[in-house]
Amino acid sequence: MITNRTFTMLKPDSLEKGNTGAILHKINASGFKIVAMKQTLMSMRDAETFYAIHSERPFFADLVQYMTRGPIIAAILEKDNAVEDFRALIGATNPAEAAEGTIRNLFADSISENAVHGSDSDENAQIEGTFHFSGREIF
Ligand code: ATP
Ligand code: MG
Repeated sequence: MITNRTFTMLKPDSLEKGNTGAILHKINASGFKIVAMKQTLMSMRDAETFYAIHSERPFFADLVQYMTRGPIIAAILEKDNAVEDFRALIGATNPAEAAEGTIRNLFADSISENAVHGSDSDENAQIEGTFHFSGREIF
């Protein structure tokens, strides 16, 4: 089990607002090494699969629309205690509740458009990283 890696996406709002450089700088400055990264456009099927756990939630259709309306930046990050430390760095799902200085506090507009994704477990980090990257793209 890989325990020192997590997976992130800079969501479409971050690219639309020109925040990718600032967010990636904050990720690096917080001690995360980028071991894979690319800009890509998720299809509706991709987004439905990626967020399948939320398929019964009332916001699911809006979530799929949001995540497919423009490109994202997907990345695999490495750091000791990566999953937990990255969730702390991004802050709460609702930016109104995200701690001062967290990525969502600084760059997110709302609970639905919240700038970044972070894996919530080692198991999901592995599944999500493999969803977006082949072995040849991870260093
Ligand atoms: P992510 O999985 O993207 O890192 P998260 O783990 O903080 O976010 P989840 O509960 O997994 O939060 O929700 C996935 C995404 O669905 C959220 O990031 C947000 O874009 C959207 N979402 C979650 N809850 C709501 C809600 N109540 N209303 C609207 N959108 C929501
Ligand atoms: Mg989540």
